[in-house]
Amino acid sequence: MKHHILKKSNIDSFIKELSKKMKVVAPVKKWQNNFVFDEINSAEDISTDDYIPTILPPKKYFMPQREVIMNFFKKGKEFEEEIVVSKEKLAIFGIRTCDLAGIQCLNIVFNDKPIDIHFLSRKENIFIIGIECLKYCDEYASCCFVNSHLPNGGYDLFMTDIGDSYFVYINTQEGEEFVEHLKLPKAINQDFQKLEEVRAKKRATFKNEVNIDSNEVSEIFEKSYNSKIWEEVGEKCVSCGNCTNVCPTCYCFDMEDKLDFNLKEGKRIRSWDSCQFETFAKVAGGENFREERALRQRHRVYRKFKFSYDKFNRFFCTGCGRCSRTCMANILLKDILVKMSEEVKF
Ligand code: SF4
Ligand code: SF4
Repeated sequence: MKHHILKKSNIDSFIKELSKKMKVVAPVKKWQNNFVFDEINSAEDISTDDYIPTILPPKKYFMPQREVIMNFFKKGKEFEEEIVVSKEKLAIFGIRTCDLAGIQCLNIVFNDKPIDIHFLSRKENIFIIGIECLKYCDEYASCCFVNSHLPNGGYDLFMTDIGDSYFVYINTQEGEEFVEHLKLPKAINQDFQKLEEVRAKKRATFKNEVNIDSNEVSEIFEKSYNSKIWEEVGEKCVSCGNCTNVCPTCYCFDMEDKLDFNLKEGKRIRSWDSCQFETFAKVAGGENFREERALRQRHRVYRKFKFSYDKFNRFFCTGCGRCSRTCMANILLKDILVKMSEEVKF
């Protein structure tokens, strides 16, 4: 991997050069402590240092909330289809390590057969620039528990603040070409030393936030399927679906065919769905496999730590804390995990 240096005083020209090539989005403060990924034109618009995870994760660019995936037209007596894939070039600046892990999870799912060309086409055209957090965003985060607090691939460029400069990691050909275009100097020994000092401080700050050894998670989930915890959580939950909408690794969707009034053409639209909605598991004939909120909550948490682990060998929780931060019923993921662990041990 190649390493370069970007002086903080040059960050604006970095953004402006990038903007000449493609649309650039980055975390922007909207009100109080609420941040969103939004289009920017200069470095002044960006909140890189103080931002807590954005309301919606960057998944909104890889898999929009509502997306036309096919147009269809009547030709004679038959309908013909035209698959719609986006090739819009986009750069996302300032993605934190937890959200990089979220994109990696989606990438695994949508590369699994049958592959999802809509996601993959967007992914191919998105230039990802990650940025490292050196302090905790807030008390909801559990990134160290799931090991998503450190960079682990999934970016074109990645930056770590080492004082008056950013230490820049290059991970792709496209990233390298952009760094060469900017003529960024190579990192020297002194820069590596600064990086090590920054990392040492980070290691002292970031500790396993739920005090459960991640090797024990599998066993805890094996033993907790019939726990009374799910009844307790189900009693509080109001089934709003916010926790899944804001989750960087939730990808369930619904499909709808909209036929035009002329009955000759239409669109197939997919939009985000939520396993927390009562209708989600309802099937033809009226059967509902998860009618109770307790079962839906259990399903959500098992999807993050058990089912995904069994299938893909990784947790689908990145510890971003969004589900807890957004929950109007104050259902806190870390509390659920701690209770599960205590119940299994005693
Ligand atoms: S955000 Fe909270 S109340 Fe809403 S569905 Fe999720 S757990 Fe239930
Ligand atoms: S389950 Fe909650 S903490 Fe984990 S990735 Fe999803 S929103 Fe973030």
